[in-house]
Amino acid sequence: MQCPTCHAPLETPLACGECGALLAASTSDPFELFGLPQSFALELPALRKRLIRFSRWMHPDYFGSRTGPAGEALRLQAEKNTAQLNRAYELLSDDFERASWMLERAGGPGESEERAMPQAFLMEVLEWNEALEAAREAGAGSSERAALDALAATLAEQRSQTLDRVGQLLAPGNRRERDDLVRIRRELNAVRYLEKTLTEIESLRVEQASSSR
Ligand SMILES: [Zn+2]
Repeated sequence: MQCPTCHAPLETPLACGECGALLAASTSDPFELFGLPQSFALELPALRKRLIRFSRWMHPDYFGSRTGPAGEALRLQAEKNTAQLNRAYELLSDDFERASWMLERAGGPGESEERAMPQAFLMEVLEWNEALEAAREAGAGSSERAALDALAATLAEQRSQTLDRVGQLLAPGNRRERDDLVRIRRELNAVRYLEKTLTEIESLRVEQASSSR
């Protein structure tokens, strides 16, 4: 990737850090927009640093002082590029969304096409749902509510293990058949379930904390 204006190598297809040119990117690939190789493993602080640096190059205020139709066009392009960069950041910084995007890019099923969870996971889901239901009914201050701490720790551990597996399955160079892609989606459905359940537990804990005050 080279800047069409000054020919400097580009770090992002949205703008040139060297000469300040705003560019209309021909891609919507969030990894490409951040100048990164497609990989599930991602250093969040490094991504954040790129977001801040690139945002400066395309900040609408920076182009706001130029008047006339050309100035207006620049400002609109700056807004568009900033929005595109922010959307890509939202997607890449979310483990589930990043994996889900990579899976669909590899030809795998979307969330609405494959709704099942891994078989081995289902028995545990039944158990967890029961514990959650019991805690909800028992109300604040009960031992069932106190047991939620351990449950949350278990679910968080499961989430991180499942994401590790997904990361390995999505690693570049891995040959993947249709069955493998479906399997990855099922693992991701498990991640979705775990995140949803962790949020529910969190809200029950907040209730618990406010009632024991
Ligand atoms: Zn340039």
